[in-house]
Amino acid sequence: MKGNLVIIAAPSGAGKGTLIKEVLQTVPELEYSVSLTTRPRRPGEIDGKDYHFVTRRDFEEFRVQGGFLEYAEVHGNLYGTSRKFTEDLTGLGKDVILEIDVQGAASVLEQVPDAISIFIMPPSFEALRARLEARGTESAEDLDLRLRNSIDEVSRYDLFKFVVVNDEVSSAAARLRAVIMGERQLRTRQTDAIRDILDSFDVSKLIHEDS
Ligand code: 5GP
Repeated sequence: MKGNLVIIAAPSGAGKGTLIKEVLQTVPELEYSVSLTTRPRRPGEIDGKDYHFVTRRDFEEFRVQGGFLEYAEVHGNLYGTSRKFTEDLTGLGKDVILEIDVQGAASVLEQVPDAISIFIMPPSFEALRARLEARGTESAEDLDLRLRNSIDEVSRYDLFKFVVVNDEVSSAAARLRAVIMGERQLRTRQTDAIRDILDSFDVSKLIHEDS
């Protein structure tokens, strides 16, 4: 059975990275889509694990080749999801988390309307600012840009089917896990498996096999 795309978006500083790490450790058959980006690598980030860090030229080449499921410019840098990477994983029956911005989420939902879409909402603007400042990975200018962009991003929450308010990490992670696990049980996501079961209940076949 094909896996699902799980879109997770949030303004910068909402803590989605931590929540995603938690669910990747606790939800089986769940993988993370490693995006391509032109953003410079932050200390501690690993090329090929957090992102594929590429030049604008490489990014453009990949785009022209049709390599992206979606891509967008966010906070002045380019980010994109590899079509092949996600298709290979969903083809193996894995659910794949796309940690992308609201523009990317809109683009994926147009192409894959049954993707699971989740918005991580910070409990308040003040909490968002405090988290970004504590992280300390951005210059003052970049921090300002991210805070200003967060207002637009939060206003687009209604694009998403689910909203998880990140008021407390372990409780928010549990709710995120519940969404992913619950969506897997939708009848419409299990049609092939259900058909196989129903086939095994086909009385005419059973009588034929027994006689
Ligand atoms: P950061 O620079 O903090 O890692 O990410 C900045 C923003 O870009 C975040 O909102 C993140 O979700 C988004 N982003 C990361 N990868 C992708 C991607 O492949 N596509 C899109 N559209 N956004 C992405």
